[in-house]
Amino acid sequence: MTARGPRLVLLGKQGAGKGTQAVRIAEHYGVHHLATGDLFREAAAAGTELGLEAKGYMDGGFLVPDDIVNGVVEEQLHASDRAEHGFVLDGFPRTREQAEELDRILGPFSLDLAIDLDVPTEVVLHRIAGRRVCAQCQAVYHLDNPPETNWTCDVCGGKVVQRDDDTQEAVMRRLELYEMKTLPVIQFYRRAGILAHVDASDETEEVFKRLVELVDSYFDPGARAL
Ligand code: AMP
Repeated sequence: MTARGPRLVLLGKQGAGKGTQAVRIAEHYGVHHLATGDLFREAAAAGTELGLEAKGYMDGGFLVPDDIVNGVVEEQLHASDRAEHGFVLDGFPRTREQAEELDRILGPFSLDLAIDLDVPTEVVLHRIAGRRVCAQCQAVYHLDNPPETNWTCDVCGGKVVQRDDDTQEAVMRRLELYEMKTLPVIQFYRRAGILAHVDASDETEEVFKRLVELVDSYFDPGARAL
């Protein structure tokens, strides 16, 4: 039996810290990090057909249609046997239909845990208002936590900017869509018996520690075959 990493979904409102934590969790367990929002932003920056179509939805704070998102996720999870080896999904699934589709895509390699990062709305509004991201590698910063030199990314040297969809109007729409479309996903995983909540309103380091403790308590690579 070859060891594998955990298969995880991170859920939570915009600004809950999914991206920041998903990068660290993926590194910690040596699994693939798949962020649909990052993929769409990269495709938009590269000017591909997919990217330009997605950008129209993203900039207004709307969801990209399920058939487009599902196709991208299926392709990504089937590449290099990622479904089998483990992954952290960040920003997907965002609708109940996507959650059902994910089960189909994964087949026998079912999810270990869906983790809901709990943060009060006033905290996420502050985080999003000050959020800045690297246009090249998507590393996340904040006005309170800028890169070392002049808004140049510490990781890759790219330009650190505000996201096009972090405007007040788009943020309000995204939070509304979260309530309408993504809360049912939480319910879906609760029924499946794999939902866990983590208080994510504290500092990054503290939240990361909680996440690792949680995942370790559910996931024992030595004891799991599939
Ligand atoms: P994020 O970086 O996760 O906040 O995603 C940015 C934007 O990408 C979202 O507001 C949507 O427009 C689009 N997007 C990302 N993931 C999904 C998804 N699973 N379903 C639909 N749209 C998505």
